[in-house]
Amino acid sequence: MKKWPIIVIFIFILLALSTSLMKKSGGDVCALDAIKIEPIYQVDITLADGKTLKFCCIGCARKWLAGNKGKVEYITVTDEVTGKRIDASIAWFVESSIVTNQSTGNRIHVFAEKADAEKHAKEFGGTIIQNPFVEP
Ligand SMILES: [Zn+2]
Repeated sequence: MKKWPIIVIFIFILLALSTSLMKKSGGDVCALDAIKIEPIYQVDITLADGKTLKFCCIGCARKWLAGNKGKVEYITVTDEVTGKRIDASIAWFVESSIVTNQSTGNRIHVFAEKADAEKHAKEFGGTIIQNPFVEP
C-alpha cells in the first residue's frame, strides 16, 4: 500500500531521464508523428514558401501530403544504399516485406539506382512501384 507512490515517482524520474536523453542524442523528429527520424529513411518536403518539413518515412510524408495538396515545391528522398539525398522524381521505389518503421508500418523503400531497387525487390519479395507521391 505505502510503496506505490515511490514506484510512481521512480517511473516519472525514469521518463524524465529518457526524454532528456532522447533530446540530447540529437537528430530530427518526424513532422507528422514526432518520432525520431532514421536518416537513411528521411523524406523532406519543401514547400512553396521555402520551408522544409522532415518525415520519418514515405508513409508519413504521404499522409501529410494528402491534407496539404498544392503547397509542395519538391520532395527529397534518401537512397537506402548510399544515404544520398535525391529528388523523388528520379528515385526508384520498392514495396517489399521489410518494414522501415515499426510505428508506421511503412514498407516502401527508396533507391537511387534501378539495379539496387531490383536487387531489393528480388531479395525481399517486393515490387517496383510508381513514385508514391504522384497521384495516378
Ligand atoms: Zn513519421
